[in-house]
Order: sequence, then structure tokens, then C-alpha cells
Amino acid sequence: MANASDFSKGLLKSEELYKYILETSVYPREPEVLKELRNITHNHPQAGMATAPDAGQLMGMLLNLVNARKTIEVGVFTGYSLLLTALTLPEDGKIIAIDVNRDSYEIGLPVIKKAGVEHKIDFRESEALPALDELLNDKANEGGFDFAFVDADKVNYWNYHERLIRLIEVGGIIVYDNTLWGGSVAEPDSSTPEWRIEVKKATLELNKKLSADQRVQISQAALGDGITICRRLY
Ligand code: SAH
Ligand code: CA
Repeated sequence: MANASDFSKGLLKSEELYKYILETSVYPREPEVLKELRNITHNHPQAGMATAPDAGQLMGMLLNLVNARKTIEVGVFTGYSLLLTALTLPEDGKIIAIDVNRDSYEIGLPVIKKAGVEHKIDFRESEALPALDELLNDKANEGGFDFAFVDADKVNYWNYHERLIRLIEVGGIIVYDNTLWGGSVAEPDSSTPEWRIEVKKATLELNKKLSADQRVQISQAALGDGITICRRLY
């Protein structure tokens, strides 16, 4: 049965090409519990919000490359990227997972429990901005994290960046999802559906600012809906 995650977010040449990538390189290596979470999420009316499995695969590699132990996730939904992170971190790893909506997190929670990784997750039901500010209230958290994944509330990405750059250690990574916003960033506004306009403006602004931000090394990869990988330099 076709799954929301089997459809590309429109950045590739064709759906066949996306299917090829998934079937050749992604699905054969995707852990069973992640498949299960994907299938559960499939029935959700907003299933398309879940992290694309190919973007997830790159995230797993980045987590391993920085030997991530302490991470932050902004935007959990049913937990695809969260479970992926939890499976990748060592036994004593910790994820602070922030989302305004606990109900969707609870959809995936049985699978997270079954995978035996719930102990790594500190779920905080909150708006992201105050939750990040609360972390910054404790000096010990400055540079206390090695990885962050941001996938919520696109209009605030730059505000999250200003906080995360202090929470992530030098050499650590921040990944921003949806930075190509359906490809709309390179289209005239007249071709962009009304519902996409506000986030499109914010995304154009964000991409320009990240490009100019000398505190980070960046790579914008056309995976999923576009992800920008930032590595803190100083
Ligand atoms: N990474 C997830 C997808 C996240 S979808 C996955 O892999 O499935 C975006 C999520 O951001 C939604 O669950 C929504 O509840 C949450 N969200 C939206 N605005 C928010 C805000 N201001 N603060 C925190 N979470 C927010
Ligand atoms: Ca996303």
C-alpha cells in the first residue's frame, strides 16, 4: 500500500526516481520499528509532515559522525525522527524532544517503548521558544549538546538558530528541515499557493541569513523537502 512517505516532496525529477532511492538505499536498511512507526503514521491526516525516510537516513549518519550523546529535537509529531535518533544514540544518550502537541507523540510512543529506547527521551510539551530559553537559563547547558534537529514552526527558525548556536557545542550539528519548502523558494510568488507564502518568506530570509552566518559551516541538501546542515565553527 502506498504510504505518504513514498512520495517525494517534489524536489526530484520524478516520483519513480524517489521510489528508486527508497527501494534501493533506504528501505532495505530501515529498522523494523521505524517501518512500524511509518505505517502507523500513514493513517494520520497530516502524515506528510513526518520526516522523509531518506532525510532520516542522512540524519542517522550525521548523528554517528559526531558521536551524538545529547541532542535536541524541535517538532516531534508521531516520532519518526525522534525514534531514529533514539535508536542511534548510545544507551546513556539523551534527547530533549519539544512539541506543543503530546497527542501525536503518544501515537508513536508504543513503538518507541517496544524499541526499548524511551529512557533516552525527555519529552517536553511546550512551545519551542520558551523551552529553549529555559534550557539556556542553566549555564551548564551552553555547549552541552552535540546535535539538534529542527522541524517545527518554520517562521521561527532564525529565533531557534540564535538559541541553538549557544546550546550546541563547537563541532556540533544543527539540521533544519523544509528549507526548500516544496521548491517554492525558487518560484515567483504568483506560482506559490497562498498557504505557502508566509513560510516561503521566512524560509527565503532564513536561507540568506544562514548563508551569511560565519559561525557555521553549511550544506543545503535537496533531500526530503530540503534540509540545511549547519556545523558550529566557533
Ligand atoms: N520531525 C517530525 C515531524 C514534525 S512535524 C517527524 O519526523 O515526524 C511538526 C511538529 O511541530 C508538529 O508535531 C507540531 O505540533 C509541532 N509544532 C508546531 N509549532 C510548534 C511550536 N511553536 N513549538 C513546538 N512545536 C511546534
Ligand atoms: Ca519536516
